[in-house]
Amino acid sequence: MQIYKVGGAVRDRLLGIPVTDIDWVVVGATAEEMLAKGFRPVGADFPVFLHPKSGEEYALARTERKSGRGYGGFTFHASPDVTLEEDLIRRDLTINAMAEDDQQNLTDPYRGQHDLEARLLRHVSPAFAEDPLRVLRVARFAARYAELGFTVAAETMELMRQLSGSGELQALTAERSWKEISRALMENQPQVFIEVLRECGALKVLMPEIDALFGVPQPEAHHPEIDTGVHTLSVLEQAALHQQSLAVRWACLLHDLGKGLTPEEDWPRHIAHEHKGLKLIKAVNERFKAPRECQELALLVGQYHTHGHRALELKPSTLLELLQSFDVYRRPQRFEEFIAACEMDARGRKGLEQRSYPQADYLRGAAKAARSVAVQPLLEKGFKGPELGEAIKRERLKALKAYKEAESV
Ligand code: ATP
Ligand code: MG
Repeated sequence: MQIYKVGGAVRDRLLGIPVTDIDWVVVGATAEEMLAKGFRPVGADFPVFLHPKSGEEYALARTERKSGRGYGGFTFHASPDVTLEEDLIRRDLTINAMAEDDQQNLTDPYRGQHDLEARLLRHVSPAFAEDPLRVLRVARFAARYAELGFTVAAETMELMRQLSGSGELQALTAERSWKEISRALMENQPQVFIEVLRECGALKVLMPEIDALFGVPQPEAHHPEIDTGVHTLSVLEQAALHQQSLAVRWACLLHDLGKGLTPEEDWPRHIAHEHKGLKLIKAVNERFKAPRECQELALLVGQYHTHGHRALELKPSTLLELLQSFDVYRRPQRFEEFIAACEMDARGRKGLEQRSYPQADYLRGAAKAARSVAVQPLLEKGFKGPELGEAIKRERLKALKAYKEAESV
């Protein structure tokens, strides 16, 4: 049997980028031989094994044929007579379809090295169209390598456009899509992921709520960039620049969905867009089965981001309601993530990227003031049950009034 490094490890070494995980392909072996060498099978009928020591993935060279819709609809053929070239041709991009032996001799039948130098994300063969997930993968690689100057090859974009129009994207499972979306959001330029999906028409299919924001104007005084879609991309860009968490990035992407529902005659104003957007945020959350913390934060940021921006003008009672809604007493970290998302929203506007955001510290101070109310003295005074709850609220409100006064001198 011959063993080669493949995929990302080869690509990233040639790019001079640190290689994190290594994928291997094994040519000329059977599953039985792998098991005899101590490799552990990944799945019952999938020709992939884990190395007994390193835990890295070793896949038998295989060919695949599409036999139905979605990813389940693939027939694999793995046998010792499948060649390296046959295995590489089923891969998504030419830059991912190179292999290397232990002497670093490169096997590159589909001109991956040429495309690396040309900074092109190009599909290997027409079989690309057999797995719609590849549309998301290409958009994710575009987001990752944008800073190196990579773009999607015109003919690949055309294929992605056909795939997006074919109805195949709908067959993707929530789990496979979310894995790509969440990884893409954590790249350095996640806005490029959305841009590429939009350009090939996949955004309209996967997240029509975001696609609908392009072409929707906002008041120029607050939004010099005017377009709501452009604003959303800038907010996402800021979130990556400031190394925000996945939940914050997800919330940034979804925070303004309500603006896509405003009747044209009301443009450029978007009255109550925060509230109107909630059902759209919920729909997107559920479509991709986003993790709970992502779902929750997206809904809270959607509902309250304008409160965040207006923090310094809020009445103490409104501030208190905000803090209660976030359950800031038990979930301080979630409130921090809310503040972060608001700040990214404020900076994700043309020419305002460097602005200061005093609301952030003001909100932190308010949370601290409300949290400083001690329960023990109220218990000692004999408050119980609902009355205790009311007493705590009264004390917190007092604390917030004092805080607001102290801050405004
Ligand atoms: P990363 O750095 O994100 O791990 P990678 O290129 O190694 O990038 P993996 O998801 O680890 O990506 O997959 C390893 C290799 O398997 C890819 O380089 C590609 O050749 C192939 N591959 C993975 N998923 C697909 C797919 N859906 N369609 C075609 N080829 C795929
Ligand atoms: Mg990999």
